[in-house]
Amino acid sequence: MSRAAPRRWPVIAGERAERYRREGLWRAERIDEIVLAHAASRPGAPALVCGERRLTHGELAAAVGAAARRLAALGVRRGSPVVVQLPNGVELVVLTLALSRLGAPPVLTPVTLRAFELEHIVSVTRPAALALPRRHARFDHLALGRALRDGHPGPEGPMALLVTGGRPEDAADTVDLTALCAPPDGPYEAGGEGEPAGPGDPAVCLLSNGTTGRPKVIPRLHEAYGHQLRHTPAVAGVGPDAIYLAVMPATHGFVLGCPGVLGTLSAGGTVVLGGSAEPAAAFELIEREGVTHTTLVPALAERWAEAASEPGTPDLSSLRVLQVGGARPHPRQIERIPEALGCRVQQCYGMSEGLLCYTALDDPDEVVLGTQGRPLSPADEILVLDDEGAPVADGGVGELLTRGPYTVAGYLGDPAADASAFTTDGFYRTGDLVRVHPSGALVVEGRTRDVVNRGGEKIPAAELDLLAAEHPAVAAAAAVAAPHPRFGEIVCLYVVPCAGRSLDLEDVRAFLRSRGLAGFKLPERLEVVDGLPYLGIGKVDKAALRRRAAAR
Ligand code: AMP
Repeated sequence: MSRAAPRRWPVIAGERAERYRREGLWRAERIDEIVLAHAASRPGAPALVCGERRLTHGELAAAVGAAARRLAALGVRRGSPVVVQLPNGVELVVLTLALSRLGAPPVLTPVTLRAFELEHIVSVTRPAALALPRRHARFDHLALGRALRDGHPGPEGPMALLVTGGRPEDAADTVDLTALCAPPDGPYEAGGEGEPAGPGDPAVCLLSNGTTGRPKVIPRLHEAYGHQLRHTPAVAGVGPDAIYLAVMPATHGFVLGCPGVLGTLSAGGTVVLGGSAEPAAAFELIEREGVTHTTLVPALAERWAEAASEPGTPDLSSLRVLQVGGARPHPRQIERIPEALGCRVQQCYGMSEGLLCYTALDDPDEVVLGTQGRPLSPADEILVLDDEGAPVADGGVGELLTRGPYTVAGYLGDPAADASAFTTDGFYRTGDLVRVHPSGALVVEGRTRDVVNRGGEKIPAAELDLLAAEHPAVAAAAAVAAPHPRFGEIVCLYVVPCAGRSLDLEDVRAFLRSRGLAGFKLPERLEVVDGLPYLGIGKVDKAALRRRAAAR
């Protein structure tokens, strides 16, 4: 099943790459080597906790080695990605590291994505295999996996289906992923894993929700992602004694590596994998495992602070740092956290394409509550430009452009997206409007792109415009962000009905769901109107609609 047809992985080349190597920002290391560095020196130290399963650093390294060998035996090869759509669990971590070692990058896909998005991801990545749960949250992932496999017969054979929770009758056409990721019975002997990846090979692929299309695939290369993993633990105060709780999906870059799961392991700490970010479940894990660090989006952080004051709350005194990011929090959403949860707040701002910003753990309140932090690396380059592409005056608002040692140079197989998102000299246009605070930290003021940020979940509005317009009773549709007290923004869909037809929210949601759209993207408000406002050039005036949605 090897699908070794070459893919063009966008790389940073030339003078910048040479400089990063010369200055030691990039090292000839793979990320699995960085993450498993403590296995040899402290093999008995706890590494992973998931429900009743516990793995030490030594066991984790052995499981990764064994999984890499088993994957190689299945024909997974350097250069051919594997789509990994798994919830938080041991298999997600072991498989991610094993695939990155092979240079067959896992394409980390949220379990919430459905046929609409997965069709596109499979077409772009042409994976050798799909890794998925048989069922999760009442959705039949295996049925979708089989449909994708049958619908995409590659020249080198069908995709393999690697499945957790499979039944005996599935054995005919699936591979048991839990067995594939299990530590070996005896002592692990290295070897037989095939050709390992080099430092310039892809380690993982993250997904980004663009403005117009379906998810874009972001290849993160070993030497560049390694820079991020080596530097993020210190910023968050994560060392060998840290116990990091992942309650949000570890398929997202923020939870995976900021420092998150991979950064904590690389520092020799312990990762607790949770399945729910609901305060009741998460608080129990914090008490049981003595959790010191975790990561939340603003809406959840606010919920946790509220829930912590209820009687009978478990003991949360082990918690030291709560990282808040993914969307800009209102100061009121985070100011109560130090008192309610007894820990420090660290604001984090960044993107799957690279750049990460953090407030420092000893920053004054004004910076912690009022900014989204400073860039991680002194080698991160930042431009804040006005509409004409000129630098704004000090403290002015403009679009943030960035390049640096861990920001990518492009997407996989999407030259049109590359041309609009990257400048010719390698800067990534973030689409975020920022200003620089007197402390040097960035403040995110808005976006230039047509994306709704629902408490950290990014929803490309143009995708909804097109899909909703396919509804037989819809003449025209436009989705915009409407303000929401908890999520920051939700999707408000403006629709013009066809003559004599009526529409309601449930009807439109059911239609979009039937088109295979992920549930978190469904509109939560519907405004039925006689016509949409247009700009002179025939484009829907989304700014006017956003103002209207905010005024209601
Ligand atoms: P993603 O690639 O899914 O991580 O999304 C990255 C985008 O999320 C950024 O370009 C911002 O628009 C938004 N974002 C992430 N963190 C923050 C934050 N702390 N404040 C404001 N926006 C944020």
